[in-house]
Amino acid sequence: MAKERYQIKSECPECGCGLICNMTPDEFRKKYGDTDGKVRVNCEKCGKDHEGCVIHETE
Ligand SMILES: [Zn+2]
Repeated sequence: MAKERYQIKSECPECGCGLICNMTPDEFRKKYGDTDGKVRVNCEKCGKDHEGCVIHETE
């Protein structure tokens, strides 16, 4: 069985903090649907929405 995961990487343009978020495919689809490439993420520090880059990994 292939191991699959999603990673979202982003850098907040407001406060400059970086975010790396690991999710299982189930968690990802629940939150973002079938989107691939870019998603909107919410900065934990300043609460602003910005764009994050989706990395889909399988091994
Ligand atoms: Zn921020």
